Amino acid sequence: IEPKLSGDFAKLMEWADGVRRMKVRANAETPLDAETARKFGAEGIGLCRTEHMFFDPARIGAVRQMIMAEHEDGRRAALAKLLPFQRSDFTELFRIMAGLPVTIRLLDPPLHEFLPHTEEEIAEVAVGLGVEASAMQRRAADLSEANPMLGHRGCRLGISYPEIYEMQARAIFEAAIAVAKETGTAPIPEIMIPLVMSKRELDITRGQVEGIAAQVFAEAGTTIEYMVGTMIELPRACLTADSIAESADFFSFGTNDLTQTTFGLSRDDAGKFLPAYVEKNIIPKDPFVSIDPEGVGALVKIAAKKGRRVKPGLKLGICGEHGGDPASVQFCETVKLDYVSCSPYRVPVARLAAAQAALDSAGRTDRTA
Ligand code: PEP
Ligand code: MG
Repeated sequence: IEPKLSGDFAKLMEWADGVRRMKVRANAETPLDAETARKFGAEGIGLCRTEHMFFDPARIGAVRQMIMAEHEDGRRAALAKLLPFQRSDFTELFRIMAGLPVTIRLLDPPLHEFLPHTEEEIAEVAVGLGVEASAMQRRAADLSEANPMLGHRGCRLGISYPEIYEMQARAIFEAAIAVAKETGTAPIPEIMIPLVMSKRELDITRGQVEGIAAQVFAEAGTTIEYMVGTMIELPRACLTADSIAESADFFSFGTNDLTQTTFGLSRDDAGKFLPAYVEKNIIPKDPFVSIDPEGVGALVKIAAKKGRRVKPGLKLGICGEHGGDPASVQFCETVKLDYVSCSPYRVPVARLAAAQAALDSAGRTDRTA
C-alpha cells in the first residue's frame, strides 16, 4: 500500500489534527518504517526497537559473539564490529525524521533469540572468538533460560554487560552530531532504558549513557541536547514511579509487557486460553489489544500521577500495541499522556482517535462546568 493520505480523508485528518491534544508518533526502526510513518503524519518516533536491527545476516555473527564472549575483551571486539552498523542505522533515522523526536530504546532482546542454536552456529562463534567449541557449548547452556521473557533482558543485560549500552550510546551521539553538521538541524535523541523496575537500575544505566556522551562530545568538540528516560512496563515500576521519575526525563508505557506482568499472562501463549476467557466474560476484551482499565490502566494512572508529582513537566507516552487502539487512545487522553506511539500504518487511526478523545474530554468538561 502506498502510504498517502489524499482528498476528503486528508481533509478529515487535518480537522482531527486541529482538535487533538496528544501527539502521535510511530514505532519504527527501519528507514522504510520511518518514511511510512512520516507520510502518515507521525510526529516522531516513539519507539525504535534496536534489537530488531541486530538480526541482519551481516551482523548476527558479531551479535552472537558479543553475547557468548566470556570476557569483556571478546565482547568489546564484537561491539567494535557492530558500532558502524548502529551509527548508520541512527544516522538514517535522524535524517528521515528531520529534527522530530526519536526515541531509541537500548537493547531489549529475550536473550535466547541471540544465542547460537545449531552446532554450526556454535562452531562459528567459537572460531570468531578464538575459543574451543566445547567452551561455547557450555556457555550457551549457561546462558539459556527457562523463561526468557522474565529473564536476562532489558536493562538487566545492559547492567551485566555495560559495554553493550555504551556502544549504542556512542552510536547515537556520533550519528546525531553528524546529522546536525550535515543538515543544520540537530536531532534530539531520547534514549530509553527498557524493563526498569527500580530507580537504581535507571541511575546505573543513565550514568553509562552520560559517561559516553561526555566522551563523544569531547572528541567531537561539540555537544547536542538529549534526554534519558525509561520504559514503564513492570508493575513495580508503576508503584515506584515517583522515585524513578527523579532520574527520568520521560516515561513511556510499555503496555505489552505491563499487560503480561500484571495478568501474569504470557504474551506469546495468550492465544491458548484467552479466547475462552473473553467468551465467558472473565476478561472483557483481549487485554493485549485494549487497555484493561481496572488493572493495567490503574497502574498507568498511578505511575503518571506519582511521576508528575515529582516532576510536573515529565513527558509521558505509550509505545505498547495499545497506542494504536482507539479505546486505549481514549484512555490515554484521560491520563493526559503527551503522546501515543503505534505502528506506522495505525498512525491515521491514532490521529482520529486522539481527536475524538480530545472532543469527548472537552465535552465532559463542558458538561461538568
Ligand atoms: C511493551 O512492552 O509494551 C513494548 C513496547 O516493548 P516490547 O513490545 O518491545 O517488549
Ligand atoms: Mg516491553
